[in-house]
Amino acid sequence: MDFILYAVPFFFVLIAVELLADRWRGVSNYRVADAINSISTGVLSTTTGLLTKGVGLVTYAFALKHLALFELSADSVWVWVFAFVFYDFCYYWLHRMGHERNILWAAHLVHHQSEDYNLSTALRQTSTGFLLSWIFYLPMAVAGVPLAVFISVAALNLLYQFWVHTRHIPKLGWFEWFFVTPSNHRAHHAQNTLYMDRNYGGVFIIWDRLFGSFQEEDDNEPVIFGVTTPLASWNPLWANVQFYAQLWADARRAESTWDKLRIWFMRTGWRPADVAAKYPMSKPDLSQFRKFEVPLDGRQLWYVALQFCVYIALGSYLMNLEPQLSTSALVLGWGALALGLFVLGVALENRPWALKLELLRLAANVPLVWLAPVVGLWPASAVGWVGLLSYSLLSGIGLYCCRNRFTRLAS
Ligand SMILES: [Zn+2]
Ligand SMILES: [Zn+2]
Repeated sequence: MDFILYAVPFFFVLIAVELLADRWRGVSNYRVADAINSISTGVLSTTTGLLTKGVGLVTYAFALKHLALFELSADSVWVWVFAFVFYDFCYYWLHRMGHERNILWAAHLVHHQSEDYNLSTALRQTSTGFLLSWIFYLPMAVAGVPLAVFISVAALNLLYQFWVHTRHIPKLGWFEWFFVTPSNHRAHHAQNTLYMDRNYGGVFIIWDRLFGSFQEEDDNEPVIFGVTTPLASWNPLWANVQFYAQLWADARRAESTWDKLRIWFMRTGWRPADVAAKYPMSKPDLSQFRKFEVPLDGRQLWYVALQFCVYIALGSYLMNLEPQLSTSALVLGWGALALGLFVLGVALENRPWALKLELLRLAANVPLVWLAPVVGLWPASAVGWVGLLSYSLLSGIGLYCCRNRFTRLAS
């Protein structure tokens, strides 16, 4: 059973609770643009997952049918316990390789790009994990874990990881020995040298203690969150392709064919010698660290935040109705969502062309409302057109109110 769908409302309730805790304690762990960017990558990841989850499911089902050594029963509680622990073991290696190999880091780094650390960071997920992550779970199929059990423990594992993304919970005594906690996961999200490439467990931290990758959070070394090559963007699409683009550029620049091929599978950060000499990349001095920020007017932020709610609604709609929707409806929904989140990212960056692009996004809703009933994304009705008209009118008024802000701050 995929529990994630039912957990979405709780995610938002807990984010609200964390915001209240921030206020109560007089601290500020959230920035609007960062939270929108993190949740945008989450919405994009979940919606992309509706189209790509077949990769993981088909490969798992195939391996289960042809390679399984045992036939385990979903009725046994021990099979569930075994699968839950075994899943986390596989996750540990996927996650570890996700940090240690260029091509896997290109997918996983999305989760680490935020320079804040709060519950919205937990929702920051990659959209390209489906390409290779399935390989790491094949041992479960070989052991004969039924597909339904696999899907359920995968969802439970992901759900567990939500609560550890907070700065409000201190170390938890004996619990730190066995489980992934807010404290040891904060260290995992650090870019300080001390914490680099540590604490990979999803639920159990024992794997890190066993395989030598554990590091305790040290009060003398405050965690600086983020990655050493900052994203420096609020764009959720760019967040997903940033490192692939860098690897591609380096592969093209390399003289040797061997280097062009092996760069993808080398240790994270490895670059061909000739490319590194010609196009050096410096590591930032953490003592000078400043979070990525774009000055934005309050009205602009409100405008983007309200528009963003539309895409959370669209993402939830797609998740809810996925079993009834055709592939073309899902593709159309995904396209509308990706375009919308891209444009809102541009607005958060206050690019000179943000206003024009926003008008284009609103105009693109006309073909969307026309096409949606054709492919079965939603039924044809006058409500769709009335809704579009009201939405466009409200958006137009909102945009008119902050039109000068977009251009003033950008110039
Ligand atoms: Zn990680
Ligand atoms: Zn995390």
